[in-house]
Amino acid sequence: MSAPPFIVAIDGPAGAGKSSASRLLAVRLGFALVDTGAIYRTVALAASRQGIAFDDDARLARMLPALQIRFAPPVTPGGGQQVLLGGEDVSQAIRTPPMSLGASAVSARPVVRAGLLELQRRLALAPENRGAVMEGRDIGTVVFPDADLKIFLTAGEGQRAQRRFAELQQKGDPSTLDQVREDQRRRDKNDSERAVAPLKPAPDARILDSSELDLAGVVEQLAREVETRLAAREAREARR
Ligand code: C5P
Repeated sequence: MSAPPFIVAIDGPAGAGKSSASRLLAVRLGFALVDTGAIYRTVALAASRQGIAFDDDARLARMLPALQIRFAPPVTPGGGQQVLLGGEDVSQAIRTPPMSLGASAVSARPVVRAGLLELQRRLALAPENRGAVMEGRDIGTVVFPDADLKIFLTAGEGQRAQRRFAELQQKGDPSTLDQVREDQRRRDKNDSERAVAPLKPAPDARILDSSELDLAGVVEQLAREVETRLAAREAREARR
């Protein structure tokens, strides 16, 4: 039997650079990328389209099993992968500030977290994957407590807001830096104070502060770490 996919868990607060680092790492390693934030965002989008309040557990629970969320390769090489809801590409629609807050709200509902566990695991463990980079908040603590490598990627609050602001500006979003910082604080607070799956590093996670590192530096460190562990795992399996 071939080895199960090598799971890399990349958790951390909003704006620490997880998305770019995870995407580049997955490309470099030839691993699948599972952006779990995109999954929560898609749930928020579907709920808002159906007029379901983000705290209406009964209706959220009824909506979840019918949602078909999956990822497809980027349209342009080097671009972000597509997020599909049913057949529709919702990659842009889920990246607006209201959907950021919506994702933070629905993700605080235990019914939603429980309802998405199976999907997250299935996407990572697909037999065609040699490995998967899973980006989220609770991958190393809840979704894959036995992940092969756990990284908690963080950065200073000012740096995170600045990066997010630059990203939104590029997309023509009119939010000001102050609004971005305020949204980030609300999300950080929601994410770290909630009762279910609060944002915190797994005890065995390696904490990587990207405040002083550029993206290439982060990806380089992560890729080396994965390659070392992957080689060790393959050597162990070969001895069996
Ligand atoms: O990473 P991203 O900003 O796209 O995530 C959107 C929101 O989804 C986060 O603020 C967080 O509240 C929630 N989330 C989560 N657990 C995950 C991924 C995202 O609660 N594994």
